[in-house]
Amino acid sequence: MKTIKVTVWNEYRHERRSELIAGIYPQGIHGAIAGFLNAQPGIAAGTATLDEPEHGLTDQVLDETDVLIWWGHMAHGEVKDEIVDKVQRRVLNGMGLIVLHSGHFSKIFKRMMGTACSLKWREIGERNRLWVTAPGHPIVEGLGEYFEIPHTEMYGEFFDIPQPDELVFISWFQGGEVFRSGACFYRGRGKVFYFQPGHETFPIYHQKEVQRVIANAVRWAAPVSVVGFREMMQAPHHPEPLEKVEIEE
Ligand code: ZN
Repeated sequence: MKTIKVTVWNEYRHERRSELIAGIYPQGIHGAIAGFLNAQPGIAAGTATLDEPEHGLTDQVLDETDVLIWWGHMAHGEVKDEIVDKVQRRVLNGMGLIVLHSGHFSKIFKRMMGTACSLKWREIGERNRLWVTAPGHPIVEGLGEYFEIPHTEMYGEFFDIPQPDELVFISWFQGGEVFRSGACFYRGRGKVFYFQPGHETFPIYHQKEVQRVIANAVRWAAPVSVVGFREMMQAPHHPEPLEKVEIEE
């Protein structure tokens, strides 16, 4: 089985400005996610961050990435449009994209969705119960009917995304709201998974169910090999029919 190459992208700002957050994620959120993914058979994860040249997403890195994971919050506006263009092109040509938590407002997620991607939020540390709504889906492999995150930020409907191609989780929050917290989209040859958990002040990426979902999502989002597909950004003229065509005058 071919190893799936993952790049975990993080803006990496909160961890450098807050001792509380740095205490939860001493290697950064990207380091924590790459760490548990690298413990999985068949997955090799590296990292990239906003302040590296080209945000760490050079042509070579993108070409070699099977699945890109995206965490951002306070610096969405600093991500260069030319990098977003390149990531979009790679997704349309087969690279998987997993967008976490506050990445709902990232340029790349809004680009892939074409909607505002807005939602409601509240930060009081309430409980969150994620219900599985697609028990046959590979992203829920190994889970029960639901799992809980003891303390989290609430994200509530209406979440302005297109109708998901597959809805994998619906969340309930202690304060009463619900949210489509795990949603799959097909774009060109690529796959996009949005997963809500991950507020930076709680140790959510250390929780085993959350790690399980992200690892499952990497396997689901990995490219499928196909032969002879066109570059998805191009619409080629195709003057020669596949079969002989006789047009009667
Ligand atoms: Zn948050």
